[in-house]
Amino acid sequence: MEDLKSIIRNIPDFPKKGILFKDITTLLADAKSFQRMVDLLSHRYVGEKIDKVVGVEARGFIIGAALAYKLGAGIVLVRKPGKLPSETFKKTYDLEYGTDTLEIHTDAIKKGERILIADDLLATGGTMGAVVDMVKELGGEIVECCFMAELEFLDGKKKLPEGKCFSLLKF
Ligand code: 5GP
Repeated sequence: MEDLKSIIRNIPDFPKKGILFKDITTLLADAKSFQRMVDLLSHRYVGEKIDKVVGVEARGFIIGAALAYKLGAGIVLVRKPGKLPSETFKKTYDLEYGTDTLEIHTDAIKKGERILIADDLLATGGTMGAVVDMVKELGGEIVECCFMAELEFLDGKKKLPEGKCFSLLKF
């Protein structure tokens, strides 16, 4: 995993001063690394019944779509407000300063469907915690929340259902 980790670059003071941002675009842009990352993540769920993968805007769409294709599942989009055209369910969650809102189509998940949620990176867990609530509200059964990378020191796992969190690369 160290080779995959080392291709992710650190950007100081992005998006604001004091934050060291993990820029995963360097991994996505490298053909072998991207393929290996998708293969390693998807391998964990081969043989599991996954009806749909939920991808979180925007980098989660890339990972979620690749996983859905590999696993023969549908892909569902969780988007920022005002982007989804049909009826939506909204969830507002707390950030360090202020709040954020995400939306999902109310008919995107049927009761009892087995759902894998995907995002690029787990930091404080606020985003994924909100997505977990949305999927549960629509009656989905969460198989796992999976991430390409995790900032372990922020302990975002504690905001997610116990034992249902997997990240490939740990920082
Ligand atoms: P959280 O809600 O866990 O604090 O933040 C996770 C969300 O913010 C994810 O959707 C992720 O894309 C984005 N994010 C936060 N920090 C970083 C970072 O350092 N690198 C990347 N690539 N995404 C981040």
